[in-house]
Amino acid sequence: MFEKVQLPISLNQQQLFQNMKITPELNNYDVFVKTYESLWKKLPNLVQIEGVFKLWKNTFGKEIHEDLAHTSHLVYCLVTLGKDISDQCTAYFAERDYVSGMMIDSIADLLLFNASNNLYTLVCKEISEKRGYGLTRRYSPDDRTISIVHQKTILDVFKEDDLSIDIGITEGYMYNPLKTLGYVYGADRDLQMTGVDHDCRYCSNINCEMRKSFKKSV
Ligand code: SF4
Repeated sequence: MFEKVQLPISLNQQQLFQNMKITPELNNYDVFVKTYESLWKKLPNLVQIEGVFKLWKNTFGKEIHEDLAHTSHLVYCLVTLGKDISDQCTAYFAERDYVSGMMIDSIADLLLFNASNNLYTLVCKEISEKRGYGLTRRYSPDDRTISIVHQKTILDVFKEDDLSIDIGITEGYMYNPLKTLGYVYGADRDLQMTGVDHDCRYCSNINCEMRKSFKKSV
């Protein structure tokens, strides 16, 4: 089964400022607040947040990660913000508006992260609650434990579907638009549902600012 959804803009100023280490003690704190307020108003014109997921028989799991070798199915997921927000980020840096450039980039990362969490809620409902599959934690291609080549593996799974989302891939296996995430879950009716999406203990994203948020959930 395959499903495509529009996802809401989920953004929290406090969370963003924490990620960017912006505190009221900074001399230019007011500048950051004003920049945030200005960017917040522009966001609806800069992002179109879409997600897709597909429950599919497990043919590539072993190649992606040894933990995924034995589940009967995989759930392939893609989330994207579209290209406009990255274009705007590039434009800000070209104009030497570095505060806006850095902040819009951090906003995009947070939007993408939160959109993937929103998609997880839908995946749980459709795959687990309605169809009875337990899910593993999330497995994302990266530079360390899961080859970045699998960004293409994930995209290719959707080739035969009416994806209607303009996502391409470069020769270096980077998604285009840049602010796109691809990842998989193992799925099996014999698997106990853990409800854990992010398991930071096994994630190689050592610089992830969200790591501390999930400390208590694992
Ligand atoms: S470090 Fe944790 S929160 Fe960040 S991406 Fe990895 S699993 Fe998710």
